[in-house]
Amino acid sequence: MSRAHNFSAGPATLPEPVLRQAQQEMLEWHGAGASIVELSHRGPEFLQVAAQAEADLRTLLSIPSDYAVLFLSGGATMLQALLPLNFAAPGQAADYVLSGHWGKTAIKQARPCVAANIAASSEAGGFRDLPARDAWQLSDGAAYVHITANETIHGVEFREVPDVGGVPLFADFSSSIASEPLDISRFGVVYGGAQKNLGPVGISFAIVRRDLLGRQGQPRAEILDYRAHAAKESMLNTPPTWNWYLLGLTVKWMLDEGGVAEFARRNARKAAALYAAIDGSDGYYRNEVSPAVRSRMNVPFFLHDAALDKAFLEEARAAGLIGLKGHRALGGMRASIYNAMPEAGVQALVDFMGDFRTRHG
Ligand SMILES: *Cc1c(COP(=O)(O)O)cnc(C)c1O
Repeated sequence: MSRAHNFSAGPATLPEPVLRQAQQEMLEWHGAGASIVELSHRGPEFLQVAAQAEADLRTLLSIPSDYAVLFLSGGATMLQALLPLNFAAPGQAADYVLSGHWGKTAIKQARPCVAANIAASSEAGGFRDLPARDAWQLSDGAAYVHITANETIHGVEFREVPDVGGVPLFADFSSSIASEPLDISRFGVVYGGAQKNLGPVGISFAIVRRDLLGRQGQPRAEILDYRAHAAKESMLNTPPTWNWYLLGLTVKWMLDEGGVAEFARRNARKAAALYAAIDGSDGYYRNEVSPAVRSRMNVPFFLHDAALDKAFLEEARAAGLIGLKGHRALGGMRASIYNAMPEAGVQALVDFMGDFRTRHG
């Protein structure tokens, strides 16, 4: 079978040139006599791969020099658990703005170690909008304010960085990092798993303003300590070398394609085409998110009759379009259209949706 257009939310489609290069280098990496995945993480070959990946990510995201970049295993959920341990004093409060499923997991992971205050929530409205900034109830002396930049399941995205005054803003960017230019200096921590927009699952990133590493945090094992990871350049123990390598190839590909400004343009066109197809279908398809905060990365949508879902998915697969089944929390469909999804893939989906409607309308 040839490669389909893969709309999976994560792990997600990777750029074909990245997979081809990895395939080519799989058995033997650049004269090293072994695959990169077989070599010591402290050897010159992998150190070069690791350093290049970080340098390229810094270039891609314009990361200021007073920010540390950590590559860690454990996924975004693990990072959610580590935030209060590293950045909140025992008993201190932290504010969470809840705009979907992943904001909930962030609170769940943090709760044992911090007085997590839900400063605002759009749950009552089914997470179809963002809580208005002027209704946020931030607590005095909070360690940080946490947001989910893009809610991967509910398809709701912050379209501007909220102003939270002098309190560090922590943001889960798992599913929208590198999708458009971002002013990192507005944040204390930008973190996420790589498997949506930055590469393979098995590695996550934390971009941390260095002064925050001076916070005492809470008693914790060294392996859970960001300071220790930063001091050892994410090699406190054996890092996920293969994943780091693939992330590096993916970041390099994004730079070669024109960087985040170019992806912002492509992503805007892709999202506009897909939402237009949904909104222009006379209710045959529907997306329920408030238009101003619709995600450019994850587009959940429903057919007017859920009894057609099975046929839609089967016929989509036959047309070379996979990964469209919605998250079980919402049902329906979801098209994830990350950087690695070409515009032709979105066009193929739009065409298929029109055909399907004609045949089953
Ligand atoms: C996927 C995702 C997570 C969870 O990531 P894991 O790596 O599975 O822990 C957290 N937040 C967001 C926004 C996500 O999209």
